[in-house]
Amino acid sequence: MNTKSKIFFRRKPINWSDRGIDSWIADIASACKFASDNPARNYNQLIAAYSEPGRIYFSLAARSRAASCAPEERLKIDSQLFRARVLIENSMIKAISSDSEPFHELIFKRGFFGYSIKQGVSVRFPLSTCKPTSKCGGGCYAHDGRDKHLSSIARGVFNYLAVLQFENLNLSKVSPTNLQAFYNQIDKAISYAKIDAKNSELNGFSRRPRIRLSHVGELAAIPEVSNWLAQKIFERSDGEVDSIMYTRHPNASRLDAKLMIVNFTVESDLDKRRRFAPKGAHLVASSWGGHAYESVTVNFLEHHGRINFRMTGDGPICPVTVNHELTPTCDLAKCSRCFSNKR
Ligand code: SF4
Repeated sequence: MNTKSKIFFRRKPINWSDRGIDSWIADIASACKFASDNPARNYNQLIAAYSEPGRIYFSLAARSRAASCAPEERLKIDSQLFRARVLIENSMIKAISSDSEPFHELIFKRGFFGYSIKQGVSVRFPLSTCKPTSKCGGGCYAHDGRDKHLSSIARGVFNYLAVLQFENLNLSKVSPTNLQAFYNQIDKAISYAKIDAKNSELNGFSRRPRIRLSHVGELAAIPEVSNWLAQKIFERSDGEVDSIMYTRHPNASRLDAKLMIVNFTVESDLDKRRRFAPKGAHLVASSWGGHAYESVTVNFLEHHGRINFRMTGDGPICPVTVNHELTPTCDLAKCSRCFSNKR
């Protein structure tokens, strides 16, 4: 079996209600402890080491998103999803950090930016960088679709370790080979972002090229690196490519909204987190359960695969979240509400 088949091989799901959720979370914790105490020596070993906690987490996430899952059951599972995911991520970070040499290529030289039809060019980060609210911890789209696969979780972990090398922005301490490799990745991401924008134009919707800085997890947790990265994207694209940050992290207050377009996410008109939005940011809302607010630039209606919530309240709604099947991307919806420049 090749690596790809192993990663996407569907293992038997757990039936969580057999034993109760706490007991499954305890299984994740003990398997993760074993994996970080016995660090993997290559990528295949890493995925194999986390296959059991990955199977439990995946099953819980899939069950929560199943159309047949009753609201009370979903609530129970969602209350533990973030914890389950972060146990795996933190254990991987510990395991790889103990000897990162076999993973150098994956951390420093390739894969920092990803590409998908839905997100365009974007960065994946671990959820362990988030400061979740009681709703977004379990309701996050990171627990949907492919984002809940072990390979995606590992990619977020590699990216986090890559960013740590820049944490204090003392570039003289970064290996010149790693630095050049990182710049090469930025240049490639810029090219993809331009191609993506060109394709949109050919399909009848003109917009500026853009790169999403963390569509999963919070790059904004490390704001100095986020600002530095946005500056590099600006410089190396001759100002043609925008950096886009969606965040709800308290450290967002230290983001420079002149270097990137910031969409700061709140959960209501009275959300105390509003104070963390940097000057010049759009305020956007996670409309949990479908409730929209008037005071924000846009409301994202909660939707997971086939589960949609009926909208209540007033306020501008993201068209992708109104009818995800018909318009699954911003380009198809011909919308750039989140990407308009407030600078
Ligand atoms: S509001 Fe428009 S730009 Fe923002 S995510 Fe939705 S479709 Fe995309």
